[in-house]
Amino acid sequence: MREPISRDSRLALDLALTIRHDGHGGVADDLTDAVGLTRWVRAHHDLLPPAAGGRADHRAPGQRADHEDSAVVVRRADRGDAAAGATQPADGDGRGVGFVADAAQLTAVRELRAAVRALFARAVRPGEPSPADAARLMPVPEAVRRLNEAAARTPTVPVLDWPEGAGPVLRQQPAHGSADLTAALAHAAIAFLASPDRDRLRACHAPRCVRYFLKEHPRQEWCKPSCGNRARVARHHERHKATT
Ligand SMILES: [Zn+2]
Repeated sequence: MREPISRDSRLALDLALTIRHDGHGGVADDLTDAVGLTRWVRAHHDLLPPAAGGRADHRAPGQRADHEDSAVVVRRADRGDAAAGATQPADGDGRGVGFVADAAQLTAVRELRAAVRALFARAVRPGEPSPADAARLMPVPEAVRRLNEAAARTPTVPVLDWPEGAGPVLRQQPAHGSADLTAALAHAAIAFLASPDRDRLRACHAPRCVRYFLKEHPRQEWCKPSCGNRARVARHHERHKATT
């Protein structure tokens, strides 16, 4: 049975997965330049809070849309989303988001990712971390400090959301205006690492795979079936070598 994955867990995991297997036995990085970060943020705009490049849907009832005007790093252009203060036409990439990353955001997100991956490596202990960066992991105390510093870029306040016909929900909202992209990602990573989802985190050790994944059932060993197949083939060859 497939367990649901929260928005925070999805964001934290997807940030870590921007370091991935390149299909040729090496490791690729989706965030080597601002173009790569722009593409990644646009692809995740439905998971991010509005001022960090996401949609307006996460706004709590009663929160004034003009609070989002200070989102200087993000140019929102959701098609038809006049209420959110869209000031530019849709950019035609099919996602309707005008987010463009800059060099400073790239540096900050890459530093945050290094911290997140170091803490993922800690979370999967006593299992081995992803081989992609196992030899160059940031020390855990430094990773915790950097994650907390990134989160503090946007102070948040708890907000109660209690719509008619549903239970009350606690949300964390930026205390002043808009959410910084790196802070929004750090908030998601902290929520994930402090949640029960952390216990489902594993590194896949199929040949060539470098992915972290969340186990969807107790006996799951590989991130996806194709990795299980490769691992079985490799084991078969190992056994065959041992007996000849
Ligand atoms: Zn895998």
